[in-house]
Amino acid sequence: MKSETCFGKASGKALTQYYSEEEAQDAAEYSKEYYGNDLSPYHCDKCDLWHLSPKSRQTPSQKCTRCTGGYGVEKASYRSKCEARLRADIIYDEQGISLRVYKCKYGSGWHLTKSHF
Ligand SMILES: [Zn+2]
Ligand SMILES: [Zn+2]
Repeated sequence: MKSETCFGKASGKALTQYYSEEEAQDAAEYSKEYYGNDLSPYHCDKCDLWHLSPKSRQTPSQKCTRCTGGYGVEKASYRSKCEARLRADIIYDEQGISLRVYKCKYGSGWHLTKSHF
């Protein structure tokens, strides 16, 4: 299924959408086997479904136990400023939301925020 709401910024093509992480994971494995593409699933906030993106664009994050976002959810924490920046760029590409990188004041990596203070 092609998404009607989400497009790859680089390609301009509609992204393929999946209804569950399992479905997206299956497609990623298929793609690796047949095309040699290293893809992994991510949850899309825009359409609330799943898409695939190249592994090189994946930025592993952990939850910061000391900082919370606007809705009381734990903030994702990135290991380096560079990875946080990459994630911010990807979010901007995919969702058009521009985020700022800042260092966790408790020393657990780097966070992203929408607010400009
Ligand atoms: Zn989407
Ligand atoms: Zn923090």
